[in-house]
Parts: sequence; C-alpha cells; structure tokens
Amino acid sequence: MLFQEYTSHIQTFIPKAIYGVLRLDERLSLRLEERLDEKEKEKMSLYKGGSLFIFGLPIDSEALWFWNHLNGKRYLTANHILESIIVSLAEMFPASHIQSLDRISNHKIAQVVLAEMAGLGTRGWNNVLLHPEHGAYIQLTTIVTKDVFLDINYGRPMDKDVCIKCGRCVDACPVNALSPTDFFAFRCSSVVASPEKIKSKAVAVTSDSYVECRACIDSCPIGLNIEKLYEWKK
Ligand code: SF4
Ligand code: SF4
Repeated sequence: MLFQEYTSHIQTFIPKAIYGVLRLDERLSLRLEERLDEKEKEKMSLYKGGSLFIFGLPIDSEALWFWNHLNGKRYLTANHILESIIVSLAEMFPASHIQSLDRISNHKIAQVVLAEMAGLGTRGWNNVLLHPEHGAYIQLTTIVTKDVFLDINYGRPMDKDVCIKCGRCVDACPVNALSPTDFFAFRCSSVVASPEKIKSKAVAVTSDSYVECRACIDSCPIGLNIEKLYEWKK
C-alpha cells in the first residue's frame, strides 16, 4: 500500500505521472557512491537499504519547459512543480526522510541512467530518455527514501530499445553534437541556452524566460507532438 500512497499523492499534481523504483541495495549504493564526495556519501549512507523513487512529468504543454530568470537564478517550470511535490511528500512521510537525490548528490547522478535501470525507457541517440508513450517529452526527478516498497516489484531495465535509430535527431542538431555512438556535450552546451547570445539556438519568450534548443527532441518520432511555441505565436 505504501507505493500506492506515494503515487496517489503525486497523481493529485500530475495525473499522468510515470514511476520507477530501485532498491538501494549494497551494489547500487556502491555504484552511486563512486560519483560522490565524502560529504555527499555520508548523506547517502542514511538511505542504504531504502529506495530510489523516480517519477516523471509528461510535458504536454510548452509552458512546462520554460526556463525563467528570477532574482539572479534560473529555474525550469517543470522542475519547480516536481520539487514542490517532493516537499509535500516529505511532509506526508516524515519518518521516511524523503529528499531530492539531486540535492544530496549536487546533480552528479544522471536521471536518465536511473530511469533506464528502473525500466522507464531507454536512452535514445538524442542522449535523453525515451519513454515508450511520451518519448523524450518527460521531465524526471528522483527521491531517496528510507522506505522499502514491499507491495511492488522493483524496476528492471527494458528488454527492447525504444529508440528506432532513425537518425532524425542526429540530422536535426545544428552543431553536430550527436552521433549514433557519442554525445558531444560541449557543442550542445554552447548553443542550448542563453538566447541573448548570437549563436544560441534557444528562443526567448519574454525578457526573463526562454525555451532551450531541443531540435533533437522535436525531430524524434517517438511520443508526443506537443503544441509548439512558434506555431501559436504566428
Ligand atoms: S539540444 Fe540542440 S544543440 Fe543540444 S544536442 Fe539537441 S539539437 Fe543539438
Ligand atoms: S530521432 Fe530516431 S534516432 Fe533519434 S532518438 Fe528518436 S528514434 Fe532514436
């Protein structure tokens, strides 16, 4: 019933949320620790034997992927929603010591790796998680909890690749950051955000908000075809 309590609460905010759960056994704990410094390891050690609970917000509205500047910081609307849910879950289950994995690990553990391990999808040539129904239009987050979910089977990687290797993302990328075998992060990061820079492929929405380049996602035939900002602006 515990798993259902978590998911019911999340569904009050995100009716079509997707979920995956991993047991924080010795093997996974050691694997995660490899990426952490001593302070981060100490925080993670509290959760050994507990669980990682991954959930995702399907992006069915352009507004969810707006980046906003506020008080010198920037945040993604979808992440703001996910973080609010984590706070409310932590309040609901105080004994579980629920925390955002990103906060504990300082974003050192890739969500896509955990989501793949939990069977939520597979990594596409566009270097992001492809979910069978929503494609890359998913914003993921992971929480650590002391809870053990006895009422469900923990996740396992999918047997079949979701990516059909059509190569559209590789062709669409304006800076050749993708190939069937590699992701050249420095090329992507030089144009993905900062719409005020001349070479940037991001699109400004207001003086304080923008959408990142995502030609590699929009060109992918897997999943949703959301309403595009540029289309309703015309
Ligand atoms: S976000 Fe843009 S620049 Fe980065 S890999 Fe995708 S298409 Fe290329
Ligand atoms: S566009 Fe084609 S190759 Fe690229 S991630 Fe999507 S399915 Fe895979």
